[in-house]
Amino acid sequence: VKRISRFILATVLIAASVCVATSCRSRQLPQKRLNVVLITIDTLRFDRVGRGLTPAIDSVAARGVAFDHVRATAPLTLVSHASLMTGTIPPIHGVRENGGVFDRKRPTLARVFREAGYATAAFVGAYVLNSRFGLDEGFDVYDDAVKRDPSRSEMLEAERRGGDVVDAALSYVGGTSQDVGRTSQVRHPFFLWIHLYDPHAPYDPPGEFLKKANGNAYDGEVAYADAQVARVLAALDAQGLTASTAVVITGDHGEALGEHGEQMHGMLVYDATLRVPLVASARDFGAGVAEPCHTDVAAALLRVAGLGDRIPREMSQAIPGCTPYSESRYPRRAGWHALAATTDLRWKLIASSEHELYDLQNDPRELKNVAADHPNIVQAMSATLAKMQPAGGASGPIAPEAAERLRSLGYVSGSAARATDDAAAPNPAKTIAAWTQFERALGLLQAGKPSDAAAVLKQLSSAHPSAQVFQTTYAQALRESGDPRAAVVVYRNAAQRWPDDAVLFNDLSAAAREAGDVKEARRATEAALALDANGAMALNGLGLLHADAGRSREAADAFERAVKQDPGNASYWTNLGNARRELQDASAADAAYRKALAIDAEYADALNGVGVLLVQSGRAADAVPYFERAVRRDPQLTEARLNLGIAYQESGQREKAAAAYRDVLAKAPAFAKRERAAAADLLKRLRE
Ligand SMILES: [Zn+2]
Repeated sequence: VKRISRFILATVLIAASVCVATSCRSRQLPQKRLNVVLITIDTLRFDRVGRGLTPAIDSVAARGVAFDHVRATAPLTLVSHASLMTGTIPPIHGVRENGGVFDRKRPTLARVFREAGYATAAFVGAYVLNSRFGLDEGFDVYDDAVKRDPSRSEMLEAERRGGDVVDAALSYVGGTSQDVGRTSQVRHPFFLWIHLYDPHAPYDPPGEFLKKANGNAYDGEVAYADAQVARVLAALDAQGLTASTAVVITGDHGEALGEHGEQMHGMLVYDATLRVPLVASARDFGAGVAEPCHTDVAAALLRVAGLGDRIPREMSQAIPGCTPYSESRYPRRAGWHALAATTDLRWKLIASSEHELYDLQNDPRELKNVAADHPNIVQAMSATLAKMQPAGGASGPIAPEAAERLRSLGYVSGSAARATDDAAAPNPAKTIAAWTQFERALGLLQAGKPSDAAAVLKQLSSAHPSAQVFQTTYAQALRESGDPRAAVVVYRNAAQRWPDDAVLFNDLSAAAREAGDVKEARRATEAALALDANGAMALNGLGLLHADAGRSREAADAFERAVKQDPGNASYWTNLGNARRELQDASAADAAYRKALAIDAEYADALNGVGVLLVQSGRAADAVPYFERAVRRDPQLTEARLNLGIAYQESGQREKAAAAYRDVLAKAPAFAKRERAAAADLLKRLRE
């Protein structure tokens, strides 16, 4: 106790001297208001910390505290972070899967800090934590500038390197500002959340860290993330903030690395993916609790900061102790049974269509299911879990008017929304081998081998007809391997089976459009809009259909609505630019293209659009570099290749123009008939 109070005294003294040194607005605040830095490291296994691989994290543990048996509430990034930010378990905060949207009306850690006069800022490294999912609630600054692949409208895995995240965070805190001599010191006290995504697959650490980890790529990413933590600690130190800042570091979930047949995380809830490190620089963090739950972190941070009296009732208070709860609903994506888990000092129950019980004291790796030997323990722990899952707290059914609309479009097959589990659905622990196969197919797709992926997925989707994600990924592979008609058939069957899924209808629409089936595309887009009238993807799809039919005004309106819903999508902005160009509004078109290029500076379609505007305004020579960049970024974009030739010709470079036209004829895919014909024609005229 003595040691703790001396620690607090020291921090108060140092905080006071910081106030004198800067124009401190917080002098009126009560004492003991520490800055708080929360660092979450994605996909960080509990057993990688404290063994030499992570010297920076270990240094924080050495001067503060480390907890050894903390479990994430879900092995999924967004779900787990929603628990950290609210101090509640998923059935309460309502975000059950990546891609879910947090209800901003709920109290968040950042909001409590802000209302207490803190500056609040977050710097995140993955699109899955984008502000559109709601965790920006309460933050003055929420830096989620993660580049994603705009051609895949809902890619959730795009990441930004930890070095870039920390650069942004440190320039916010001040001291590393590019312009020498000027430090933009942030208002004190502050709450800073930094999210480092690096240990998440694919594992691709910089060479020196790969070497440091003896060639183990996952460990290399962990070492790299730790080096970023070291930079944060060094910056705090350099500014004299170490004693006045509480630093807390944890993970959002682990990584299976082959344990229990799982490669990554999300599908199963064994400790390989649930247990996470938790270390804090403040010794009184989690005071009085031997092993806090992950949901206790929020309240503990507030208490450490001196805001114990402001902890919202909804947040876990960790008094007298928490009941650990974890879940994964991810298996439902594959038609399998969801999982829920709880632990006490000795036992861990995993509830599914078939319960598993492990004796953690004697079997910490959860290898021997002893549920059959201990029916009373299983029953008691099941009852505990049931109490934590409020009835009806699942994802809602289709709204009646949407169902009606769907029926009129011919899609409803009578199947109900899958808001609950089928008791006969398999425990995912039994089907994990299929999931691993599926992840292999995904890898093939990402590696640009769609035909190989389709072969694997064909088998998987016929062996697991209830696995939606197998069906849709199979369709995607067919599409990418150049067979959109086959993809339409698979999507259509899936849409009949899962008529509540707007994304499925958007995919069906896109495939149908590619296959030249305008009617099917239109019906599918209408179905998607019936399910979600403001869905950005559906609005974009609607715009494309209008544009195809030459209705530029309607197309522009639809794209305007799409960018309003999702302003971070370069593809939607480019489509808007194209529609405005058709409407002869060059300056508005240019503005839309520039928006796309601000999101992704080398986005090929937008570069092509700017080039066309330049040619049209008689500045062909200026257009050349835009088309060149477009072709470099996307060699498949035949239109840009053709336009490059035209720009050369218009600016008097006939030989280069002829070469570009020949390039079109040599490289354009067969379906680019229009561009081929144009190139041949222009080449012929050039020779005359
Ligand atoms: Zn994660």
